Amino acid sequence: MKGIGIDIGGTNTKLIVMDDRNTLLHAERFHTMAARGRADFTRRLAAAVKRLKKAWDPVSIGIGAAGDVDPDKGLIRFSPNLAGWRGVSLTRPLEKAAGLPCVLENDANMAAWGAYELELKRKYRNVIAVTMGTGIGCGIIMEGKLYHGANGSAGELGHSKLDRSGERCHCGGKGCLEAYCGSYAIMRAARRGIKDPGAFTAAYSEPGRKKFNTICLTRAADRGHRAACGIWRDVGENLGRGLAGAILFFNPDCVVLTGGVSRASRHFLDPVRKVFSSQQIKTPFARLKLVVAGNADLGVYGAALLGMDNFLRGKK
Ligand SMILES: [Zn+2]
Repeated sequence: MKGIGIDIGGTNTKLIVMDDRNTLLHAERFHTMAARGRADFTRRLAAAVKRLKKAWDPVSIGIGAAGDVDPDKGLIRFSPNLAGWRGVSLTRPLEKAAGLPCVLENDANMAAWGAYELELKRKYRNVIAVTMGTGIGCGIIMEGKLYHGANGSAGELGHSKLDRSGERCHCGGKGCLEAYCGSYAIMRAARRGIKDPGAFTAAYSEPGRKKFNTICLTRAADRGHRAACGIWRDVGENLGRGLAGAILFFNPDCVVLTGGVSRASRHFLDPVRKVFSSQQIKTPFARLKLVVAGNADLGVYGAALLGMDNFLRGKK
């Protein structure tokens, strides 16, 4: 059995074909160009899917998209990353064009499903998966199924408040978890805490990529730079506090961290664990596994796998 996975991002749309043994068979991408409008995008996506169907004979399509997604109706309610698209129906046009069943989820939910299947091999039934990128996304697996909530909006952990008069968040509010642990927030702290960003970048950025970014900050911490280590410690402490609330509430078997910022986890996992062990209510933390995902593309893999899972559930 094979399935198509799609990840619609602000810059690129990725498409893969994989089989139910988790083997990647094909991968491609095109520029999303959301500003050209949704009709133009849907037409290009449908053409790509039709071509993949002919070449690979898949049974299903799964799509992950950034933003506020309605999984029941298969539409993007709103996405700030996609030129402000509102009410864009995706599953129906694709089902019509390709004649395949199609599921749509928010990209953090797809990454959570990818983590559940590929990283955890379905070993844990209750999972919180946190995607650490520019923002903080979160997907919830409850008793082996994606949990959506009343209208598909479960998992907005990134905008739970740590401090109501705290740092500015991209959502317009203040003091959200994301305003401390999203990459933009980490670099805001770095601009304050690193005295000479020019010299810092020259000393610590990746060879050939002189950029003052979280990679540079990680490389500095690798070499013991005090301010850089302190910034990552703060990230861990705030992430720990945000996660602790979710763990007390949900008592998961496992928390998975994924996304670009999780690559720096060696510099912030200890503070996260310290926050967990300092909780007065111990039981929800006693058997908790804290895992950092190795696969960087869980979103698009999760999309393909959830599509196939949905296909099988439909057959039962
Ligand atoms: Zn926020």
